[in-house]
Amino acid sequence: MDKVLDITTLSFTSVLLCLIFGVTLIVYSLKHPRFNGIAIIGCGFLFSSAGFFLLGFLNIVDASIAVISANTLLLFGLVMICEGLIFFNQIENKIGKYVAILLLLFMLPSFIYHSYVEESLKGKIVTISICYVIECLRCSYILFTKRNKTIILTTYILPTAFLLFAIFFAYRIMFTLNEQALTDFAEAGTVHAFTFITIQAMVLITSLSVFWITSNMLEKELLDLSRIDPLTSVFNRRALDDLAGVEMTRSIRKGHQLSILMCDIDHFKRVNDDYGHQVGDTTLVDFSHILKSNVRKHDIVSRYGGEEFLIMLPETNAVQAGIIAEKLRVKIEAHRVTIDLHEPLAITASFGVACYENGMENWEQISQNSDEALYRAKSKGRNCVVQHGS
Ligand code: GH3
Ligand code: MG
Ligand code: MG
Repeated sequence: MDKVLDITTLSFTSVLLCLIFGVTLIVYSLKHPRFNGIAIIGCGFLFSSAGFFLLGFLNIVDASIAVISANTLLLFGLVMICEGLIFFNQIENKIGKYVAILLLLFMLPSFIYHSYVEESLKGKIVTISICYVIECLRCSYILFTKRNKTIILTTYILPTAFLLFAIFFAYRIMFTLNEQALTDFAEAGTVHAFTFITIQAMVLITSLSVFWITSNMLEKELLDLSRIDPLTSVFNRRALDDLAGVEMTRSIRKGHQLSILMCDIDHFKRVNDDYGHQVGDTTLVDFSHILKSNVRKHDIVSRYGGEEFLIMLPETNAVQAGIIAEKLRVKIEAHRVTIDLHEPLAITASFGVACYENGMENWEQISQNSDEALYRAKSKGRNCVVQHGS
């Protein structure tokens, strides 16, 4: 095994791997600047690559200087990889740079002591491994406790991987302390050779996670784009068709009530005619915001047509739906749309309310009833709520 894992070759492959993935991530981050942290991870890989490169020059320049510089670069690289991952996962973290300084303050004097005062390769290996254990545990803990629960990969794989790295480095400390004196790192044996493999695994796992997570985010964005109305940011008709069908099935299965509010801005054409399309758009944005911020999280607010909105209210009976509609009507009546160079604009809206009735097979039947109720609200003079069947 010792002969198979030769440290010189591992140093070379580590330099190459860190360099390739470092450059790739930096280029990728330039193409996708809105994803945070990727460039930091890429720079971390480049630092590590430089560290491994210096390790390969042990015998050319002053060995102690090379070892100290190489390990400083490797430690810096690791801190940057962890910081980049934490930043990438949108986790707030202010102590990163202090941790880096503390680790360096611990590592450098120890390396200088074990290089110039009491020469000890074991001392240096234990020192750097302690730093790795602390940093990997810190990263694992932060990624696990403050994880973004929507992304499975970050939730489990990354913190688990960093925990395993920490366990390996802890094992390396124990192993080194019980080992006979070491003189030549190039001949140090399997456990030390595995350090290179561990860091290579870290580079691969980190990079693959970054690509996987960004592709998930991009996919989700595309999905949102196809389901969210770009002007009002509420669901569009396509999303409503999907969500409402699911909600109807769930309500029937669980025996829950289900109500639909259909609402339409009164005399909206006048807003466009009197103030222009732009103000019409602002009014729609304000209107949808009032709807969204005054219903529960799991209620489905959607733009049904131009200035007509449909709100699906799960677990809500006709009476409760009527109360919600009245609350929305009052909020809208009290709201003023701000317009440049004009008095703030008052708007009103009419509401039709309908509830699921036994025997109905699809949600469109409820929405038809709420539409009829809305039509009656308009004929009654607008700015009012009408219940289907009342
Ligand atoms: P009512 O009280 O009967 O509902 O009258 P109304 O004027 O609101 O209804 P009508 O259906 O006559 O006019 C709806 C207007 O909504 C016409 C259309 O130009 C406008 N509209 C539809 N979509 C948009 C949009 O995205 N932006 C803007 N600014 N106007 C829109
Ligand atoms: Mg209207
Ligand atoms: Mg209309």
